[in-house]
Parts: sequence; C-alpha cells; structure tokens
Amino acid sequence: MKQSKTFIPTLRETPADAEVKSHQLLLRAGFIRQNTSGVYSYLPLARKVLSKIENIVREEMDAIGSNEILMPALQSAELWEESGRWEAYGPELMRLTDRHNRQFALGPTHEEVVTSLVRDELKSYKKLPLTLYQIQTKFRDEKRPRFGLLRGREFIMKDAYSFHASYDSLDETYNDMVQAYTNIFNRLGLNFRAVIADSGSIGGTAGTHEFMVLSEIGEDTIAYSDSSDYAANIEMAEVKVEYSHSDEDMKELEKVATPDQKTIEEVSAFLDIVSENIIKTLVFKVDEELVVVLCRGDHEVNDIKLKNALGATSVELAEDAEIHELLGSHIGSLGPIKLPIGVKVVADHAIKSIRNGVAGANEDGMHYINVNPGRDFAIDRYEDIRFIQVGDPSPDGEGTIKFAEGIEVGHVFKLGTKYSDSMKATFLDENGRAQPFIMGCYGIGVSRILSAVAEQCQDSYGFVWPKQIAPYDVHLISVNPKDEAQLELGEELYKLLKSYRYDVLFDERAERAGVKFTDADLIGLPVRITVGKKASEGIVEVKIRHSGETFECAKEEVVDRIN
Ligand code: ATP
Ligand code: MG
Ligand code: MG
Ligand code: MG
Repeated sequence: MKQSKTFIPTLRETPADAEVKSHQLLLRAGFIRQNTSGVYSYLPLARKVLSKIENIVREEMDAIGSNEILMPALQSAELWEESGRWEAYGPELMRLTDRHNRQFALGPTHEEVVTSLVRDELKSYKKLPLTLYQIQTKFRDEKRPRFGLLRGREFIMKDAYSFHASYDSLDETYNDMVQAYTNIFNRLGLNFRAVIADSGSIGGTAGTHEFMVLSEIGEDTIAYSDSSDYAANIEMAEVKVEYSHSDEDMKELEKVATPDQKTIEEVSAFLDIVSENIIKTLVFKVDEELVVVLCRGDHEVNDIKLKNALGATSVELAEDAEIHELLGSHIGSLGPIKLPIGVKVVADHAIKSIRNGVAGANEDGMHYINVNPGRDFAIDRYEDIRFIQVGDPSPDGEGTIKFAEGIEVGHVFKLGTKYSDSMKATFLDENGRAQPFIMGCYGIGVSRILSAVAEQCQDSYGFVWPKQIAPYDVHLISVNPKDEAQLELGEELYKLLKSYRYDVLFDERAERAGVKFTDADLIGLPVRITVGKKASEGIVEVKIRHSGETFECAKEEVVDRIN
C-alpha cells in the first residue's frame, strides 16, 4: 500500500483524555478514533491488525472442529424473555424499539440466538456434539467504558457455543477450547495465565476459566503460584447458582429438610444444598451496604423481612445500576455467579426463619428449632470462597502465591442446561426421549486483545508490533521521492517485496524526512527499509524494529536479509 493513498492520521501530541499508553498510542499512531463514549472507528492500520488476530482465532477454532457462522446483532425481546434475561440482564443491555413498537436488544452475547437456532434445526443426538462460533460486534452499555478498546460499549468478540448429549462430551470440547485458547494467546505473543474463575472448584473439574493477560492496567487481580500452573481470580469469589436440579438433588433436599434433623452440621449441609438450588438473586441496600439474597423461589423476600432479619434500620431494594455494578452480566444468570469478596450473602431461609422466630424449612410446619439465625443462616460467604494471601502456599502444593493484575481476554464456561431448560431446547436421545442440550460457551475479546497487545508492545518511540499481527510486514521509505533514484529504487523494492508476498507500506509521500521517520516509529512495523542517499548505488538501510539492529545492504540482498 502506498502511504499517500492510505489513511493514517498520526498525532504529535498525546491526547489528554487517554489514560493508558495503549489508548494513547492507538490514537497517536492513527489506528483508532473515538466516535462517542466507548465507541470507536477502526482505521486501516487497526483493521489490519484485527484481521490478523481474527485469522489466528479462526484457524484455532476451525482446527478443533468449530464452525463459523454469523448471527444477528439485532435480537427480539421475545427471545430474551424466553431465557429470562430481558429482565435480568439489567442496564448493560442496549434496548431499542422499532416502528411497530416492538422491542429489541443489541446483542451483548448470543446464548439466546444460538440456542433458538439449534433448537429449531437439530433434533437428533446423532448430530451432536456441535460447536458454532462467530466473530461479531457486541453491544454492552458499560457503566464505565474506558481505556479505549479495552472496555468499549461496542466491541468485537469471538463467541463460540457447543451443544452436547452428555457432560463427558462437554468436558471434551471444553478441554479442546482451553487448548485452542492457549494456542491463540501464545501465537499472539501475550503474557497470559489461564485462571480458575470458579474458586470453589479448586482441585475439581473447573466449570469456568478466564484467560488473563498480565498487565498493570488490568481490572482483575489474580493469585498465581510462582512454580506451577495454578492461578485463580481472587477479586471475585463464586457462589454456585444452579437452576435446574435433578430428582436426586430434590430428594436430598427433602431429606435434610425434615424437621427432626436439626444439628448445626445438618443445617449447614442443608444450606449447602440450598445454595446449589438458588433460583433468584435479589440485591438489597441494607444500611447503605449491598446484601445479596439468594432465593429458592418459594420464599417471598421483601425489605421488611430483611430489615427484621438483619436488625437493620434501613432496607431498600438496590437500584439497577448498583445491582449491575455488583453482579455485572451475572444478574439472573443461571450459571455460577460472581460476587466480590466481602459482599454479604444471605439465604432467603434466614429471612423467613427469623420472621417466624424459628428457622423455617421450605414447607409450613417444618421448622428447625434452637437455631441461631445470625450464626447458622446469615452467612457472610459460602464455604468455597477462600481468601488467599501473597506468600501463602499454593493450593496445589507447589510454590507460593503471588498476585498480579490481569486483563480478561477470554472466558470459557460450562453452561450445562441453563439455556436449553429455560428455552426448551431439546434433542431426541438414543431411546427417542427428549433431552435438553448440554451447552458450553466460549468468548474472546478480539478488539480488547488489540489494546492488550498494544499495551505490551511499545517503547518510547511507538509501537513494536510482533510479526504475526503487525499491520504490515515492512515499512519501505523513500526519504526524498523527488530524487529520481530514490523513487525508482523504492518502486523497484516495493514490487519485489510484494512478489515475495510481503505486505508493504511504501512511504512515497512528499513529506520531510523527520515526519516520515517519526510516523514510522509510531506505527512500529517489524522491518524498516530506508531508501536514501545511497539509492544510486543500489544500497538501502534496514532497521529491525524490536532489536534496533541497523545495517546497510544491497538491493539484491534485501529479501534474504529481512527474512
Ligand atoms: P469484564 O469482566 O471485563 O466485564 P466479561 O466477563 O463481562 O468481561 P464475557 O461476558 O466473559 O466478558 O465476554 C467474553 C470476552 O469479551 C471477555 O473475556 C472480554 O475479553 C471481552 N469483553 C467483555 N466486555 C468487553 C468490553 N466492554 N469491551 C471489550 N471487550 C469486552
Ligand atoms: Mg462485563
Ligand atoms: Mg469478567
Ligand atoms: Mg467473563
């Protein structure tokens, strides 16, 4: 590409409103421009980097048998009502109304669309497992869009969804995904960790992993072992919230819920099971502190009951924005939800029981007696939430714990039957019986990765793009294109390099040398070839951006020397 024909609006000054260096440099080097808060145009250089990131993602997805599709961003409210998330998703969901007064959402994620698609088209277990993915624009009305592309309100995500007839099959695809993600982030040259996001399942089969790029601007804190692969997200602790429960679970629940079992051990065992069977999450503001109430659904929880239960002076339902801040997109979600450590969690049983003066089970006339509600029921946190400190032995027994800040670039998740149950998506099993699809979902923040790489790959002059995702391979510069020899040699090398399949940015602009070099430093392509004073002798100067190595070479040697 000839630089005079492209669109790279570089800036000499650092824009004042850009806080982090990736955002600053993406603006200065002419990669992106903000349109409105959290919404950006990707200019030619950024578009090229994105394409390269997307292609790496594509190759790794295709390699594990995942099929690319493209689903609509515009999604009907009815679909979201089926899953219960029209209500539950909160203010992060971008909502709009069409001319017929029908409501829509701009998709923040695609579980609803993909579940309805597969529900309508796939009927037999013989077609399972199936994995579909897309690379698409997502919309989330983030409370605090910031750091440029890192937290946008419109951003690009790769999202994949898998459908299975068994949990073993889900585990297999999940493991393939973890491997594919590992390959992707390695190929991108990112310094990352796969982090257990479900801190409750240490040692067990984790149901969710986040992929974190280690970076001081990261919004998450992770704990990791200094001598093994152990890593967990410590900023968040998880409470398992499972909507669909099997018959066995229900029997187990009934068993421990009988009135004659009333030791503290049994009560807490009961609570454990209750915590596995939460169907609704409410958030109240109790004396200015947010308290999460996990409800089984058959207990009415309201502010008065909660006030009595907790001995509070003021209790009100938290505002949407506050709930959202606390639970994010996990509001009303059927999978594990995440709560910041230190947030008070109360089971609805505590509330009913205190009002009654006894600890209530889930039917009238079934009560625990002599239970101290504060001690036995109003729990600050569930057992599986643990605190880890720097210097602690790693839970896997290898090494000690260190902390680091991380940027979440990917997230893999076992959904189970959360969406297939609520949206009644079933297939016929070997015996002709309808079964809900068992599902997984897997996201990668494609545009966020652009920022994460940009944050990591720069020096005081500008970007230092790694080869595999650099916008161009080579920056070819004719220092003074008015000089015939320089322009000619430039054109000759441009053609030559292109014939060797190099992607070349050819600066043949009639600009001062200083401008050209400053721009070239900012843009940061891996190799720079300068055609200057020695053009008439057929000699050019080559500079390798990442090492700073500079050498002269004859035009005939260029292709060999830059390889
Ligand atoms: P975060 O915790 O940063 O808000 P999330 O957990 O809400 O992210 P997921 O729902 O797991 O995000 O989405 C999958 C991936 O999409 C994330 O791992 C992240 O890389 C990317 N992503 C999510 N929100 C944004 C955003 N606002 N801007 C850019 N990328 C995003
Ligand atoms: Mg989020
Ligand atoms: Mg997250
Ligand atoms: Mg996530």
